[in-house]
Amino acid sequence: MTLESLGLYFKRLYGKRSRLCISGPLERMAYLKGAIESVQRSVRKGDKKQLERSLAGAVAWFFCVVEHYEELPLARAMASKYSLRHCTYCRRMPCACKSRRQAIKEVKPNRRQLKWGLAQWCHHLDTVYGMANRRDGLDRAINRLGEEMTEVDRAIVGRFNLRSTPDQIQWYLARELADVLAWIIAVANICQVNLEVVTWRVYRKGCPVCRKSPCACPPVLSVGRELRRIGSI
Ligand SMILES: [Zn+2]
Ligand SMILES: [Zn+2]
Repeated sequence: MTLESLGLYFKRLYGKRSRLCISGPLERMAYLKGAIESVQRSVRKGDKKQLERSLAGAVAWFFCVVEHYEELPLARAMASKYSLRHCTYCRRMPCACKSRRQAIKEVKPNRRQLKWGLAQWCHHLDTVYGMANRRDGLDRAINRLGEEMTEVDRAIVGRFNLRSTPDQIQWYLARELADVLAWIIAVANICQVNLEVVTWRVYRKGCPVCRKSPCACPPVLSVGRELRRIGSI
């Protein structure tokens, strides 16, 4: 399943609920950050099952953000920043970047990469960056993911060139979101979690909370004695 089809799958599952119950892209981003915090908690506790659920949740919330922008060229942005041939910063394979990176040299997207699904992206990014990311450790990967999510927040509130055309703004957002996906994948790879397998395990039968597709959960759910807003499950 390509990234585009996966986005459509999550749109069918959660699109209606997200449009009605979430106020905008920044709130969608907040839920994505919640999923990443849950990833960190599961790592601290050494809870592998919860870690897998949280990473699957991060994928779902990531596509919830993408869905807000409709027709975002995510696969094209991934292919232009994460070339088939080498690291787009140091131009080596595998990446041999020093801590101060050179300027990125984006490439013309390879058509084959546009059809890739999560599993292929996980494999490719592991080939290029896996060794370096494992050497630098999980905390750094989660910090980088946090920085990339902040970049998206900035882009959402309009910190792009104000003379940009809608197409340029769309491309800018797609590139920033491509970095977020790449770092979610890096975190999963470091944790040795197969992101595609766990995403399907959690979401293939519909929403894991209400068991329906499309999701029929109300905006607030009872969890034990607590009431929780969507996204905290
Ligand atoms: Zn590099
Ligand atoms: Zn539901």
